[in-house]
Amino acid sequence: MIYYKTDEEIELLRKSNLLLSETISTLAKEIKPGITTLYLDKLAEDYIKSHGAKPAFKGYKGFPFTCCISVNDAVVHGFPNKVELKEGDVISIDTGVIMNGYVGDSAYTFYINQGDEAIQKLLKVTKESLYKGIEKAIVGNRIGDISWAIQEFTEKQHGYGVVRALTGHGIGKNLHEEPDVPNFGRRGNGLKLQKGLVIAIEPMINMGTKEVYVGDDEWTIYTDDGKISAHYEHSVAVQKGKADILLIFQKLKKRKEKIPIFGVIINPNV
Ligand code: MG
Ligand code: MG
Repeated sequence: MIYYKTDEEIELLRKSNLLLSETISTLAKEIKPGITTLYLDKLAEDYIKSHGAKPAFKGYKGFPFTCCISVNDAVVHGFPNKVELKEGDVISIDTGVIMNGYVGDSAYTFYINQGDEAIQKLLKVTKESLYKGIEKAIVGNRIGDISWAIQEFTEKQHGYGVVRALTGHGIGKNLHEEPDVPNFGRRGNGLKLQKGLVIAIEPMINMGTKEVYVGDDEWTIYTDDGKISAHYEHSVAVQKGKADILLIFQKLKKRKEKIPIFGVIINPNV
């Protein structure tokens, strides 16, 4: 069943997502060679709790951490661990909060070093594909229009692998609600979008094959060919004419901070 949100509920979802954007921005400043993803996870948990919210992922279907942190060939659902990050690592952070009973869910991919143009391009294209999907999240369109926009851009125009095994989703009081929002599909297909629908759009794009497998921890998803993967996610409310993105990387935007090592986050809303 699809649960359409009132304007008041959308504002509560926005609050949760804004806290999430602050959390991810806080982590962004810490990412550098030598720190561990477990350290980032603890930082996220402390930040979320100190703002009166709860981590949405911890305990969800048994997931043991606040963040999914997926490095290099890990696509999503990576476990934070004690391995020190190093130059050249690609780090996808996906996390969620519950505040006032409403869930925020967002992901961002960082690249330490920025030296490899092919990796830079994968991140740029994946992030752009998120916004191409968001452009289609308007009243009167269908889910398939979002899916098609992402697939067309990443797979057809750039030759990347679009992960099929996982999708975006509706979001609200629950982390995962109906409908599914695949990153592949046909224009004009699927559920017709109405005001009040809130969805998390989250392209998971691989540099090589679209095929993935589940690791020994039974959570982490890896690319079959061991190549890099990228993941960006925003929660958006469907509106007439233009989707309402419930999350912006406010802190970084407001302070106009330059973090050369993470060039990709400087202008996250473009
Ligand atoms: Mg999600
Ligand atoms: Mg997520």
